Amino acid sequence: MGTSCRILSLSYTPTDTVSARDQATFSKTVKHYSLYIPSTPAKKYINSFLKMLEKMEDRLDPDLVIEEFEALSRDAERVQIETLKKILEENGETEYLMKWGLNGKTDPLSFKSCVPLVTHADLEPYIQRISHGEISPILTGKPITTISLSSGTSQGKPKFVPFNDELLENTMQIYKTSFSFRNREYPIGNGKALQFIYGSRQFKTKGGLAAGTATTNVYSDKKFKTTMRAMQTSCCSPDEVIFSTNCEESLYCHLLCGLIFRDQVQVVSSTFAHGIVHAFRTFEGKWEDLVNDINTGELCSWIKTPSLRTAMSKLLNPDPRLANLIYNKCLGLSNWYGVIQELFPNTKYIYGIMTGSMEHYLKKLRHYAGDLPLLSADYGASEGWIGANVDPKLPPELATFAVLPNIGYFEFIPLKEDLNVEPQPIGLTEVKIGEEYEIIVTNFAGLYRYRLGDVVKVKRFHNSTPELQFICRRNLLLTVNIDKNTEKDLQLAVEAAANLLEGEKLEVVDFTSGIDSSTEPAHYVIYWEISGEASDELLKECCNCLDKSFVDAGYASSRKVKTIGALELRILKKGTFHKILDHFVELGAAVSQFKTPRCVGTKNQTLLHILRNNVVKNYFSSAF
Ligand code: AMP
Repeated sequence: MGTSCRILSLSYTPTDTVSARDQATFSKTVKHYSLYIPSTPAKKYINSFLKMLEKMEDRLDPDLVIEEFEALSRDAERVQIETLKKILEENGETEYLMKWGLNGKTDPLSFKSCVPLVTHADLEPYIQRISHGEISPILTGKPITTISLSSGTSQGKPKFVPFNDELLENTMQIYKTSFSFRNREYPIGNGKALQFIYGSRQFKTKGGLAAGTATTNVYSDKKFKTTMRAMQTSCCSPDEVIFSTNCEESLYCHLLCGLIFRDQVQVVSSTFAHGIVHAFRTFEGKWEDLVNDINTGELCSWIKTPSLRTAMSKLLNPDPRLANLIYNKCLGLSNWYGVIQELFPNTKYIYGIMTGSMEHYLKKLRHYAGDLPLLSADYGASEGWIGANVDPKLPPELATFAVLPNIGYFEFIPLKEDLNVEPQPIGLTEVKIGEEYEIIVTNFAGLYRYRLGDVVKVKRFHNSTPELQFICRRNLLLTVNIDKNTEKDLQLAVEAAANLLEGEKLEVVDFTSGIDSSTEPAHYVIYWEISGEASDELLKECCNCLDKSFVDAGYASSRKVKTIGALELRILKKGTFHKILDHFVELGAAVSQFKTPRCVGTKNQTLLHILRNNVVKNYFSSAF
């Protein structure tokens, strides 16, 4: 509990005047304390005790957090064995683990020989039964009461995964760990964070379980706020803004709150870098409305949600001086370069996940950031966290994540292995520097030997735990016959071709891809939304460059002998990716977790429809 709270044992007589939730928190917190509290004033004692605990949690001692992390990482192998033992002890009686005949064994060898590697599809029937309300121990000993929806951008539809208190604790541990390292290099004082975070729609599953995206499950827990306070980065915006179901209104209000508290903002962040870029792209179009709202103290009329209007009216007062200042600052900027630094002068850094599919947004983010450092956030998934960024000084392109050995049991499938042979995963401390692996997760929320689908590379060790670099999703993105191109290959090709636009001061706002099999032979299609008008000549050149930049030997040779057709570049109308974001939000995704799908398959007809309907021009490569 907290960072330094050690309490012995307390017994008390609960009364019905104390809420069930507080009783649960209380008894969980103080189960080792021995002190008699009379029944009648129990509520008073409990409440003041909870307040005291809250205050204790309000303090975070970065040195202590780092010390704890150092101890864990020094002893990673033993911690892994103990973590697995704990997971299996807690869940040994579940239907799933009983089925594999573990019979109470908790050692890594038995675990690996009894329990198979699985994908989400294998666990789906179990998760479905849980979400339909079955209360028998299916995947976990303790009942699962909450379901997370993964962003599902790679599969086209959100996946259900179990969420519980342990995952929440892991999240806080990851946040605190990376914050402590970050704070050593970039210390912040008391202040606020302009956080572009959004709760998604929350709903009940068929069986009555609470369901929402993982980020929503985290943001809506009290612990999130406590941790943010402890990290001196409480969100500028009230809950009504974070949890509004109208993302556009919510984003506008986040910006407005940021401007109101501009002097206190120390950190500008979002879960994924896309969220910050999206916010300041929106700012470019809305800044005059924002200035007007500050000037008049009245929220603009297009914001309709009553709860947002009420919450914002409590923060807004006519402030012509501030309005004037922001107006002049905006006018003084050249193409919005350095807008974040200019508007929020006390910001120490920009923070969010900037690796993997987020790398594309780095250029724009750097543009908006001016001289402010970009610090890449941690690595995890709705399924659970993996590692913290403990080297905040590394540029985002080189960011790595030190695995926290107590938050799950991790295995790694070496990617060098022959794909026809049954994969042989190795343990956390057995991985080798420079090698790439697919990561396998076993956690406290009912996932056992679960293939997350990510490829990572071991860059170095922090004590005895590896620091991983995110490489890409394992599934191939583009393949027609013998060609194999991943998300990373696509990103590199787009980066190379997008460089050609720089001379015209244009940029690729966002991109995706697909295979068009309606032609014979089939060919790659790359979709680009660009920031302005480019000449046909230049776009043709970009198209050829894209085709040449897929360096995979299978692709190049197939192109030469024309068993793959000429690559096609399709240019999309401005705002198409905004429509795509809206489409995912409608499906229940959260803007906070949004990742543009980098490949659209034929199964995803709605998305294909949006893309096809918004193509304004197309070009075929003549590179081969
Ligand atoms: P979600 O479906 O929203 O839970 O997204 C989880 C996925 O996001 C992971 O499996 C990764 O593919 C990706 N992801 C999460 N953190 C990072 C990171 N730090 N760098 C790159 N990709 C990440």
